[in-house]
Amino acid sequence: MSDASLFIDFDGTISPVDISNTFFTRFAAPGAAEAVEEWRRGLISSTECLRRELDAYRGDIVALKEFAESQPIDEGFYRLVEVCDVRGIGMVILSDGLDYYIEPFLAKHGVEKTLHANRLDVDGSDFVLSFPYFNEDCGRCANCKSSHVRAAAEAGKLVIYVGDGLSDKCAAEEADIVFAKRDLAAHCDENGIPYIRFDGLDDVAGVIEGADLARLAARE
Ligand SMILES: [Mg+2]
Ligand SMILES: [Zn+2]
Repeated sequence: MSDASLFIDFDGTISPVDISNTFFTRFAAPGAAEAVEEWRRGLISSTECLRRELDAYRGDIVALKEFAESQPIDEGFYRLVEVCDVRGIGMVILSDGLDYYIEPFLAKHGVEKTLHANRLDVDGSDFVLSFPYFNEDCGRCANCKSSHVRAAAEAGKLVIYVGDGLSDKCAAEEADIVFAKRDLAAHCDENGIPYIRFDGLDDVAGVIEGADLARLAARE
């Protein structure tokens, strides 16, 4: 085993489409779009955003699972998995979204990786949300990705983080090597956090494949 761990975001990163925000914005009452907008502006936490999205939704929630299964994967993900396997880098998927739609997406695309996400249990027409990785110290995330990064760092791992959005901010501040695009890249620019910009996961795989990771981390 290598002494590196790679954590990767799901919505907007492995799945180029932000599945939950797209689904609820498109198919739920206007309240859902408002919640997403307030979350983007930092006015509400992810837990509140998820609750309001689900509250605004009147349809059969199985449609969320089916929508997820219909979405494409970033094909570069498979190369990234291969590169990490060859180098012995452990990979974990971290999401501030819901296992309810991520698991069927991953199964559909033949991905077998550890996932840490928020939970949605569906009991008839009742939705039960739970947040197994909630971190009191953050208050903004439902599943604060910094906790996972910190645990790996404390175990002596060099931590690589790959993400695209606001839910990746806490993790990016603690990782040794950050790959970022979109909102996360903007956040890193604004806050002086060193990062490697990527468009697709093939770019990330290409860098990791030949890199001296310790030097890559130290250069930052
Ligand atoms: Mg994302
Ligand atoms: Zn957080």
